[in-house]
Amino acid sequence: MNVVILSRNPLLYSTERLVQEGEKRGHIMEVIDPLKCDLIIEKEKPTIYYKDRYLDYVDAIIPRIGASTTFFGCAVVRQFEMMNVFTSVTSDAIIRSRDKLRSFQRLSKAGIGMPKTVFTNYSRDVEKVISHVGGTPVIIKLLEGTQGLGVVLAETKNAAESVLEAFNGLQARALVQEYISEAKGADLRALVVDGQVIGAIKRQGKEGEFRSNLHRGGSAEVIKLNEAELKVAMKASRVLKLPVCGVDMLQSTRGPLLLEVNSTPGLEGIETGTGKNIAKSIITYIERNRHS
Ligand code: ADP
Repeated sequence: MNVVILSRNPLLYSTERLVQEGEKRGHIMEVIDPLKCDLIIEKEKPTIYYKDRYLDYVDAIIPRIGASTTFFGCAVVRQFEMMNVFTSVTSDAIIRSRDKLRSFQRLSKAGIGMPKTVFTNYSRDVEKVISHVGGTPVIIKLLEGTQGLGVVLAETKNAAESVLEAFNGLQARALVQEYISEAKGADLRALVVDGQVIGAIKRQGKEGEFRSNLHRGGSAEVIKLNEAELKVAMKASRVLKLPVCGVDMLQSTRGPLLLEVNSTPGLEGIETGTGKNIAKSIITYIERNRHS
């Protein structure tokens, strides 16, 4: 197969690993920067022009679209879809999953547990908002944040008020969430491929840090998920139509609570943590599903 990885940086761990494993299985792997593609829209003949050639020979794509390039990146994915090229994740599913609020609404409706969350249109009635999630401490999150940036633990009503005021003043949308203290600064990340969990790690924040992101100095260990955790991860993948995804959860006294579903999961933490060949699983998933 001719497989294109849509990624802005060929040197990223995940991109390199996918190229490596694809080539091992005899495929021609190419990394293409989606932002350097021109989309040619013409009656019945959609094409893509990249550098000095037409991308009319591609059998499958693996989108690795960053949050900041969602709009154009997804337009490129959609153009490939119009050309009947198989994609490991559809443009619609990426766009839907990038909208945290919309994803939460769908996932909770599907019966998946999550920390109680309030989203308001810049409400000034902070007391009421806090009481909806059971009082302080609360977690306040920017809707647009990634890698733990823009996630704040507010211990008191005053602190919560200041943070919300600051975010509101910057016209930055935020949600207020119940703080799950029994998670003790740890979370679970399950890697789903073809709707099945193929590896999971527990990430632990460094001492005194409630955020477990590896970018924030957290550490990871391999973990075997229990039945309930497996169920949440697989259901989230199904509900958001993301056959390949990363599902973040918190362990709580009332079972697993979903935090986030990532349509472009990083492979480094999970591969080094579990010793599993996740990149190969993604390639073989494409081999199996390209013609179905
Ligand atoms: P990001 O998408 O920026 O990584 P997350 O929502 O995943 O933001 O939050 C970052 C980290 O903060 C999580 O990995 C988790 O360890 C911690 N965290 C997030 N929400 C809560 C919560 N409601 N209760 C306790 N800890 C939380």
